Amino acid sequence: SKPVVAIVGRPNVGKSTLFNLLAGEMISIVKDTPGVTRDRIYAEVNWLDRDFTLIDTGGIEPDSNDIILSQMREQAQIAIDTADVILFIADVRQGLVDSDAKVADMLRRSKKPVLLVVNKVDSFSKFMPDVYEFYNLGIGDPLPISAASRLGIGDMLDAVIAHF
Ligand code: GDP
Ligand code: MG
Repeated sequence: SKPVVAIVGRPNVGKSTLFNLLAGEMISIVKDTPGVTRDRIYAEVNWLDRDFTLIDTGGIEPDSNDIILSQMREQAQIAIDTADVILFIADVRQGLVDSDAKVADMLRRSKKPVLLVVNKVDSFSKFMPDVYEFYNLGIGDPLPISAASRLGIGDMLDAVIAHF
């Protein structure tokens, strides 16, 4: 069967924007409201003749007791349990926050290949200095992308399929 790639991360980092870009159609709901994506959503993606199944998830918010967020956390855990490769998305505009570290710990425990993707790098020259702090998560080299501006996507997909 095809490899499964799961997109996880805090609400509002751009998971659904990335999912929609890769899926090539507007399947997942993108809103400014954090955590609006409540269901895992699947798409079939092809890159360089490699097919994989992509899963969008709700956000992971370890600090919150909110019921919706806890449901999304559960969905993300299911995605982690079923994924061959995990795309952990962070947000360069918000910078590295405590919940990123908690999510990184959760992903590290999953023992699955994790790619650390730093989104909203809409200008590499402007935002690259801010990307380096994500090395502190200790889960590898941060891959800068802009899902909105379609930057860094090819390099990210190359890194994904290298794990199959
Ligand atoms: P999710 O909650 O992680 O699924 O995040 P969404 O995909 O719903 O995006 C949250 C917000 O971030 C929306 O307002 C998006 O338009 C915005 N966003 C997503 N990707 C980018 C990006 O690459 N650059 C910028 N500047 N904004 C983005
Ligand atoms: Mg979403």
